[in-house]
Parts: sequence; C-alpha cells; structure tokens
Amino acid sequence: MSSSPLPTLVDCAAAFAAGTQTAQAATEAALERIKSSEPELRALLHVDAEGALAAADACDQRRARGEAPRPLDGVPLVLKDNISLRGQPMTAGSRILNDYTPPYDATCARKLVDAGAIVLGKANLDEFAMGSAGTHSAFGATGNPWDPTRVPGGSSSGSAASVAAGYGHGALGTDTGGSIRLPAALCGVVGVKPTYGRVSRYGVVAFASSLDQVGPIAATVPDAARLLSVISGHCPHDATSAEQPVPDFEAALTGEIRGLRVGVDAELLGESPPEGLAPAVFERTREAFATLEALGATLVPVDLTMTRYGIATYYLVATAEASANLARYDGVRFGHRAELGHDSSIDDLYVRSRGEGFGTEVKRRIILGTFALSSGYYDAYYGRACQVRRRIHDELLGALGQCDVIAGPTSPEPAWLREGKSLDPMQLYLMDAYTVSANLAGVPALSVPMPRLDELGLPVGLHLVGRHWDEATLLRVADAYCEAAATSHQRTEVNR
Ligand code: GLN
Repeated sequence: MSSSPLPTLVDCAAAFAAGTQTAQAATEAALERIKSSEPELRALLHVDAEGALAAADACDQRRARGEAPRPLDGVPLVLKDNISLRGQPMTAGSRILNDYTPPYDATCARKLVDAGAIVLGKANLDEFAMGSAGTHSAFGATGNPWDPTRVPGGSSSGSAASVAAGYGHGALGTDTGGSIRLPAALCGVVGVKPTYGRVSRYGVVAFASSLDQVGPIAATVPDAARLLSVISGHCPHDATSAEQPVPDFEAALTGEIRGLRVGVDAELLGESPPEGLAPAVFERTREAFATLEALGATLVPVDLTMTRYGIATYYLVATAEASANLARYDGVRFGHRAELGHDSSIDDLYVRSRGEGFGTEVKRRIILGTFALSSGYYDAYYGRACQVRRRIHDELLGALGQCDVIAGPTSPEPAWLREGKSLDPMQLYLMDAYTVSANLAGVPALSVPMPRLDELGLPVGLHLVGRHWDEATLLRVADAYCEAAATSHQRTEVNR
C-alpha cells in the first residue's frame, strides 16, 4: 500500500490526460483500497471489479489511439445504490429489491460513463434513502472511515465513506432532506445538493419526488464542481429537469469572495449555541464565519424563524410522497415476492411481500405518510405541511434577497456512535435540522469540511445555501473557504 497522499479527482484526470497514469493503474489502486478497507467499512453493496477494469482498459485504448481526453477519463468512482446502471444489481438498500437488475442506465450515471468515469461499484445507503446515519440499510450499517465505531451519516453513507476512504475519487449521492450533505459533513468531504431540477432523476429510485435531487460527493470543491458540470442539464426523460444553461462550475472557482454578503441565522451570532447544536460544532462554525470575514465577506444577520418548522414539515411531505412512491413494490411488478399457498388472495400477496421486503423504518414512513394523506386528516397534516413549506420557501428566498449565500453548520453534531441515537427515530430526525429547508425550498446547498474537532479528531461541515441555479457562487465560497481554512482534501489515513 502506498503512503503517498491520494491524488484528487482533478489531478487523477490530469495525470491520465498527460499520460503519467493509466486508467488501469488508477482502477487497480482503488480496487486494492476497497479490498483492504471494505471488510471493516461496508461502504459498498456491489463491487464490479471486472467491469471497472474493462472500462479502464477501454479508456487507455482510446488514449493510445490519440483520442481527446474527456473530463472524467481514467477516474474511478462509485454510485449510490439507488441509481440505475444497466446490468448491475440495484437494491436501494432494501430486501424488497434483492434480485433486481435495472435494464437501463440512469441519466446521471450515463453522463458520468460517457465522460470517461470508471464505475467501481454501488454504495451502501439507508433503505430507500430513508435515514440520517447509514444504519438503516438491510445489508448492514456502514462505518465512518475516521472512526468505524461511529456512523458515517446518511443516507448516502457508502458514497461519502467511499470518498473519505479513498476508494475512488468521487461518488454520486441523492439528497431528499440532507442525504448528501450530512454524510459529507460527518466524513469530512464535500457534498453538493444542486437546485431542484438541475440534475435528471431518471433512473433514480424515487423517495419523495418533490424533494429528491442527485449530486456529487468528492474530496475537494474543484472535484465536486467537475462532477456537477458533467451530470447537470436537461433530460427529456425527467419532466422536472429544467432547461437551464449549465455553467462551467470549475471556472467559477476564482478564490475571490471580497464584498460577498454571507447571511447568518441571528441565533448563531449569540454567545452560546442554540438548542440542539453541540458546543464544539458551534465553535467551529463561528471560526468559519471569521474566516469568511477575513476573506472579505460581510456577515448579514437574517431571520430564519420558519426553518425551525423544517423537520416537522419535511417529515410530513417526505413520508406522504414516499407512501405513494413505494406503492409500486407490491410483489407483482418489482422485487421480492412472498411464497404463498394456493388458497391465498392477491391481498395476501401484497401484504406478505411488502411485510417481508421492507425494513422497520420504511414501514414507519409508509404508515405515517398514508395517515397524513388519508381522508379526514389530509387538510390537518399534509395540507398544512404544504402551507408551511411555502412559508419556509418564502422566508429563505427573502433572506437570500439580503445576502448571496447563507452559512451555518451542516450537522448539529459530529459523527455519533453507531449504538444509541441511531436506534431512536426521533433523535435521528433531529440531525436533519439544518439541511431539510433547502430541499423544501428547492434551492442549492452544500457541505464543505471545517477543521476537525480537537478532542475527537472528527470532521464537521460548514453548510452553505444559495439562490436557485446559483451553485456557482456556493462552490466559489466553499473553495475560497477551504483554501483559507486548509481543509481542502482531507481524507482518512486508513490503509495509507
Ligand atoms: N434524513 C432524512 C430522512 O431520513 C433525509 C434523507 C434523504 O435526504 N434521502 O428522510
């Protein structure tokens, strides 16, 4: 095992283009790291070593023929296992999809492959992307590469852990209420939830369709920017994907943020941490505000009172939509089918197949969502939640009228122990306090590493929220911050 630091995604692509590293060598090195760390981390559900080596060989041959390098040529990476890749099994972390192999590619996966990326495998996740810790996968929990007794965050647990452990140079995740940003924060890497409609959801397992968005996880901001440029854009197969021009996100990283206005929830400007925020995370966040000021930005206090209702709103909207989306797993069309006697009815088939196939958290969400949508309760729960969602949207947009980005912590706490909190659903829902509002409003948001905590040595994330379609400003601020705080490119020393 080499002891030199892993190159970044951008460096890896550059080394391939310059001919100093073959795709084969990069892929073999990634597969080696997987082999040595995976027994402990369980970040991947499926490794396609043969396919990855064949794709790498094809990259090298293209290069030998003198074809122009593509943006991700020779770059090994992983996909969250709710993103379809033709011919590769996909479970979405659920037993109900145990034997499912998609017959087509998700648009985002196809775009990566067309840009030269080498897919190493599919990453572990909370079942159907429902979770905040990576502990709800039907195939076992993922460990945090910084401390495997702790959670990596969820639901894109395996995607973030893979990047932190250096399996590949990037990953795709999905974010319905924080599932890219929370694990990115807890694993010390960069995670971007793009504007709703920026990236096609075609071929991605639906959780809550008005909130779901695909995005990149990577070790550095330029790496994430490159991945975002590749996967963005209108797709005729996804009616919610927007016909917005896609900027060159890497070119937006000028390092210059002088004069920029950074909105901060007035609650975070007081002497002591607001309720629920760990003092050590509060302290790091305050340091980050100072770093941004030192770079020439101005802090603007903003009123985010409505976002305090974010969790209550999110867990009604998301469960309601999930209950409808998950109705398709009925033992007839997809996935697991219960074994039944001859005298069983079609209802028995549904009940038994769904009862056996879904895990506890997914069942809880389906029951909650069905209740919120049921006649007599619809207005009081789902209807009400939609109204509050609108108010959160209006408040956030109002705040973003007074500033260019809003900054705060991504997670209220650093990675917690796998036992304990992870067993209590309410406690886990609270970990989404800072992330869900961006999904409810459809605005882009990202998490970028702050310096690790002194005592535990664990990473923590700075959360930045921006205006619709303005990922470029978010990435520019994140990049300037990382350079100043010296947190660009933190990966664990696991196996190196
Ligand atoms: N933690 C949130 C939930 O459990 C968010 C999940 C997500 O973004 N996919 O629903």
